[in-house]
Amino acid sequence: MKTISGLSLLGSLALSCAVSAQTPADAVHSYIEAARTFAGNDHAFVFGRLCETPIASVNAPPVTGEVPAALPVIDPEREWYAEPAKVFDDLFFLGQTGFSVWGLRTTDGIILVDAIFDYSVEAEVIGGLRKLGIDPAEIKYLIISHAHGDHSGGAAFLQKQGARVIMSEADWDLYENSNAPEKASRDIVATDGMEITLGDSTVKVFITPGHTHGTISTLLPVHDNGEPHVAAIWGGTLFNFRDNPDDPRDLRLRDYAQSAVHFQAMTAINGADVILSNHTAYDGTTVKLPLLNQREIGDPHPYVIGQDAVNRYLKVAESCAIAARIAEASGL
Ligand SMILES: [Zn+2]
Repeated sequence: MKTISGLSLLGSLALSCAVSAQTPADAVHSYIEAARTFAGNDHAFVFGRLCETPIASVNAPPVTGEVPAALPVIDPEREWYAEPAKVFDDLFFLGQTGFSVWGLRTTDGIILVDAIFDYSVEAEVIGGLRKLGIDPAEIKYLIISHAHGDHSGGAAFLQKQGARVIMSEADWDLYENSNAPEKASRDIVATDGMEITLGDSTVKVFITPGHTHGTISTLLPVHDNGEPHVAAIWGGTLFNFRDNPDDPRDLRLRDYAQSAVHFQAMTAINGADVILSNHTAYDGTTVKLPLLNQREIGDPHPYVIGQDAVNRYLKVAESCAIAARIAEASGL
């Protein structure tokens, strides 16, 4: 026993020496390079956006291998307009060129994740379902990942169509204090680990503060030609929050990194092998959606990336948040 504790003491001394020899810039570099490795080729866009500021602060090498930022414009009159698409047997893309709405069709109706803008929601969600041959009256629930206008702008419209609207308490507060011209009234308040069961499907929501104080990340059961998969949506991505005395950026970055760790555990426990985003670039929808159209029988599904790749995506989010936090706290 003595030898073991002696060894572990030596080990921790060596560790503390290594840590004390490291400057903040070294630490920022190492988190950036960890994130770059986690990103690989498949998560380069999200790495580039999240580690952009720390990369600039320490002059780290630039990002390579990014995907297009939006889907191609198909209607010059409405540059935001994108066609709806069936992505899995029971999951539909109902978003616009730059922002996503995901619709899970269960045996008893549809659960939507996000509502895009007030100007686009009717064309993309209601019009999209009709184009896919689905009655929009099937919409039962609307989960709002977070209360920014690009994801909650259509909530009032969808509530009027009969959707039950779900947000976290913190984001209901944020939403009600926002300057949205028309607002949904407070309905279901999500809590961490809440399950929403509709027909044969159960969706799980997790409170992952960071991007907003009540960002919701979601797990959806989906099927590809009958084969089950689990899709994970990381509900808020950028660190675009302001620093202010009542709401310091330092703590937001801390919460963000902790939430990424929490969601890594939840995705692992639930076997998530698909990553989705509410922005079309972050999850590679700008590349994957066009690829789906060319998919032939027996080809792999472009969205099924495996559990390791889902974990790496969330590791990029965690590592860039830590890099940004160290860089900002040390004035780099
Ligand atoms: Zn946002």
